[in-house]
Amino acid sequence: MTSLSDDVAPAVAALDTIVSLGKRRGFFFPSSEIYGGINAVWDYGPLGVELKNNVKRAWWRAMVQERDDIVGLDAGILMHPQVWVTSGHVASFSDPLVECATCKRRYRLDELPGGEDLTATELRDERIVERLGLVCPNDGGPLSPPRRFNLMFTSHMGPVEDEGSIVYFRPETAQGSYVNFRNVQQSSRRKIPFGIAQIGKSFRNEISPGNSLFRTREFEQMEMQYFVRPGDAASAAFEEWLPRRRAWYEAYGVAPERLRTREHAPDELAHYAKKAVDVEYRFPFGWKELEGVHNRGDFDLGSHARATGENLEYFDPVTEEHFIPWIVETAAGADRAAFTFLIDACREEEVRGEKRVVLGFHPELAPYKVAVLPLLKKRADVVEIARRLRDDLARDVMAVYDDTAAIGKLYRRQDEIGTPWCVTVDVESLEDGAVTVRDRDSMMQERVPVEGVKRLILDRLAEARP
Ligand code: ATP
Repeated sequence: MTSLSDDVAPAVAALDTIVSLGKRRGFFFPSSEIYGGINAVWDYGPLGVELKNNVKRAWWRAMVQERDDIVGLDAGILMHPQVWVTSGHVASFSDPLVECATCKRRYRLDELPGGEDLTATELRDERIVERLGLVCPNDGGPLSPPRRFNLMFTSHMGPVEDEGSIVYFRPETAQGSYVNFRNVQQSSRRKIPFGIAQIGKSFRNEISPGNSLFRTREFEQMEMQYFVRPGDAASAAFEEWLPRRRAWYEAYGVAPERLRTREHAPDELAHYAKKAVDVEYRFPFGWKELEGVHNRGDFDLGSHARATGENLEYFDPVTEEHFIPWIVETAAGADRAAFTFLIDACREEEVRGEKRVVLGFHPELAPYKVAVLPLLKKRADVVEIARRLRDDLARDVMAVYDDTAAIGKLYRRQDEIGTPWCVTVDVESLEDGAVTVRDRDSMMQERVPVEGVKRLILDRLAEARP
């Protein structure tokens, strides 16, 4: 299963290129920047919010809209606190933390230089820091033995702040699907196998967040729980979902050679998992998880049934059996996926001796589908056609009007934010009623009657759809 292919070059050599493009063009900004920022939270700007919404829409289309066996759900972020006790998160949703005795900086042991390849057993070994002679990367000071640090954020519900009022900010959306299993199954009269899909915010008090949008403390997940018969049916579903999920990234433009799968070692498996494989991407900072596919067995529904005394069994009308369904989960991050599409789309090329930066987004992910550009902004009649065309296109797709520079610069600006098509209106348009449509990737230009532009854009979008 694990395909440890030889290393490949990342799409972009330095993460800084993406971070500065992201800020300059309005994809994402550090949160609360004018206050000096708050570590590991990012705000999406005008282009970023479009990109991320498009990513979520593409996922929802593949996972809910086009599937007649999967339905959607939007559960609350705050849940009964006992949910997180039953799920095992209160006891064991933690990472190994080490602290420098002199500068007091804290690190996640498996992200320290020298700690990256430690096995899950070694990460729990109290003497591991000493044995490997690990020191603080900041000042070379001695590091403490690892201790487990729980990643859940807590708060209090209601006016009294005591132990009894504690609530957790969910660290995953999955539990909302488990506790609603019976509600969803009965109200939508689903037969097994079927799935529940959710997109929503999750929170983790990560020890060492970083690499821009890659690891943040507030993020969005896109998770799907697939309920199946116990045993072989779960293994078969797992083997179907893993390639399907990897293919989803490829269908939206991620280079296949920068994707691989990695199976979790037995001592790395979470307490609930029978099998787990990550889809990984070659980020500028190494191979990292994009999405996890997990065979969770009957752990989730079994535990919630025991804790609540509720019957969460499924009755199979064909075989007349009662059983607790097993779950195959696909767990992706919306931010991490958007970040990946952004990195993988970025390319610099030379055209007629000039450099251009292009975000070669799949058209469906591109923030703007089309830009309408008047060649002469001083000609009121040209501007009027361009504005009218933009307004008409905007009823169906994200369309932008720009007349703030010369045409060459306007094209480069749209290339750099990944707009697949630019439409130019010129003086001739007044006579022949036609405009020029330019393709971002081939840079080919074609003359199209102004009334035919929308149809052309919508047809190209439909053709590109996976
Ligand atoms: P890691 O080991 O990297 O901390 P994980 O294995 O705990 O991650 P999962 O619990 O499987 O991650 O979460 C599912 C998905 O949610 C991840 O593949 C990732 O895309 C996303 N995700 C998890 N944590 C974060 C985070 N802190 N910031 C952004 N996305 C995240």
